[in-house]
Amino acid sequence: MDDSELVPVISYARISFDGEKDEHGVEDQHRINAQTAARTGCVIVAELTDNDLSAAKADVIREDFELMLRALKAGKLPDGKAVRGAIVVADDRLVRRAGDYERFVDAITYDDGRVYADAKGRKDLYNEDVEAMGLFGVVISKMEVRKTQRRLRNSHRSRAERGIPVGGTRPFGWETDKRTRHETEAQLLATAIQDFTRGKSLTAICGEWRTAGVKTTLGNDWTLRSLKLTLWNPRVCGWRTHQGEILRNEDGQPVIGQWEPIVTQAEWEAVDAIFQARKGRRVGPKQVIGDVLPETHGQARHLLTGILRCGRVYDGKQCNTPLRVTRQTRLSAHLYVCPSKAAGGCGGLGRRGDLVEEYITEAVLAKLEERQAQALEADPWDGEEKLDRLLAKRARLSSEWQDDAVSDDVYFPQLKRLEARIKELRGERGRRELLAARADRGEDVRERWGGLHLSQRRALLFECLHAVIVEPAGGGRKPFNPDLLKPIWKT
Ligand SMILES: [Zn+2]
Repeated sequence: MDDSELVPVISYARISFDGEKDEHGVEDQHRINAQTAARTGCVIVAELTDNDLSAAKADVIREDFELMLRALKAGKLPDGKAVRGAIVVADDRLVRRAGDYERFVDAITYDDGRVYADAKGRKDLYNEDVEAMGLFGVVISKMEVRKTQRRLRNSHRSRAERGIPVGGTRPFGWETDKRTRHETEAQLLATAIQDFTRGKSLTAICGEWRTAGVKTTLGNDWTLRSLKLTLWNPRVCGWRTHQGEILRNEDGQPVIGQWEPIVTQAEWEAVDAIFQARKGRRVGPKQVIGDVLPETHGQARHLLTGILRCGRVYDGKQCNTPLRVTRQTRLSAHLYVCPSKAAGGCGGLGRRGDLVEEYITEAVLAKLEERQAQALEADPWDGEEKLDRLLAKRARLSSEWQDDAVSDDVYFPQLKRLEARIKELRGERGRRELLAARADRGEDVRERWGGLHLSQRRALLFECLHAVIVEPAGGGRKPFNPDLLKPIWKT
C-alpha cells in the first residue's frame, strides 16, 4: 500500500501502570496498536494513553481522552497534523462513564469518512453486521446509518421539487405508476380519513380493515402505525414532502405532486391537526388527549425490549412477536406483553418485568463468566519456558560478543530479533496475568454491570443472546417460573 493511502489516526488506550512495575503493559499496547494500524491501512500520528490507576478516583479528568475528542472533532492535532480516525484496541477500556461513550461517538462521527478500528480490524461503519461489532459498534453504526439516510434523502430533493414520485414501494391508494388512483384503495383511504376527522379511532378503522382482509401494498395486515403514517401522509391531498416536511416553492406554496389526489387539502389538514395535537401525548379512550409522554419515549427504556419474544402457539405457528412494555395500575412492576392483533402480535401473553429482567441478567452474567473461565482454561500459557530460554540465549550471545567471539554485524541483528520476541512473550504473560487476576476476583462484567448505562447493558445482552422466548404459563395467576424463559444464546 502506498504511503499516501494510509489514514492518519490516533490510537488510544487506558493502561494500568505504576512507575516501572507494569511497564510491559505499555510496551505491549504500543505493539498491538502498531500491528492494528498496519493491518487496517492506518498510520498512527499520535499515541494517547491515560493511566488507569487514576480511574479509580471519581471525576478524574483523563487528559489524553479529552485531547483525542478535541482532535477528532477538529480533524487535526494541536500541532496541525491531520487526524481522520481512531484505533481503540480494547474498547472496554475507552469508557468509564456513560457520558464518555456518547462524547466519543459524537466526536468520531463529527465529520464524514472517519475511520474506526479495534483489535478485530477496521469497522466498515456502513456495512458491518451491527451485532458483531460489540458495544461501540452498536452506537457508532446507528449514527452512521442515520447519516447515510440523510444523504439519500438529500439526493431525492431535486426530483421531489419537481413533484416527481420517488423510489420505494407503491403507496396505498395509487396504481404502480404511483400517479393514477387505485379506485378501491383510494375509496377506502378517503372514507377512513373522513371517519377519522369525525372522531373514529385509528384502532377501530384498523380493526375494520383487518376484518375486511384489506392488506398493505406489501401484502401485510394493517397496524396502527402503518395506518397512521398512511393517513398522515400529505401525499393523499397531492402535496409533496421532503425530509418529513411539506415541500414548498419560493413563494411558500406547497409543491403539488404529479399524481391524482385522494382527499382535499382541507381534509388532510384536519388529519394533521389531530396528530399534531397528540404528538408526544398519550391518547385515551374516546380519542381524549392525555398526559405528555416522558421525553425518552421512543428510545428503549427497558432492558429486554427487542429481546423477549412471544412463545405462544396460535393458528398452528409460534407467535414470535417482540414483547412490549406496559404498566398496570394494580401492579407496581411493569409487564412485558405480546402486542394486540391490530399491533401485530397475538395479545395473549404477558410476564412481570422485574422478575424476568432479574433472571435474564443473572443468566447473562453467568454466561459471560463461564466464557471468561473457558477462555482461560482452553488456552493455558506455555510461554514461560520459551521466555527463560530466550533470556539465557541473550545472555550467552552478549557475553560472546563481549569476548569478541561474534562480530557487531552478527550480534546486533540477532539481539534485535531476540529482544522483539522477548517483549512479545512478556506482553502475552502480562495480559494473561491480568485476565487471571480479574477472573480470580470475580471482577469484570459482574462488577461493571452496576455502573453501566441501560444502552450498554442492552448491547451486552445483544452480544450474548439472539432472543429469549417467553413460553405461555397457562390460564390464571401462576407464580413466576423461570423455566418458561428460553434464552437463545449466540455461540
Ligand atoms: Zn404472541
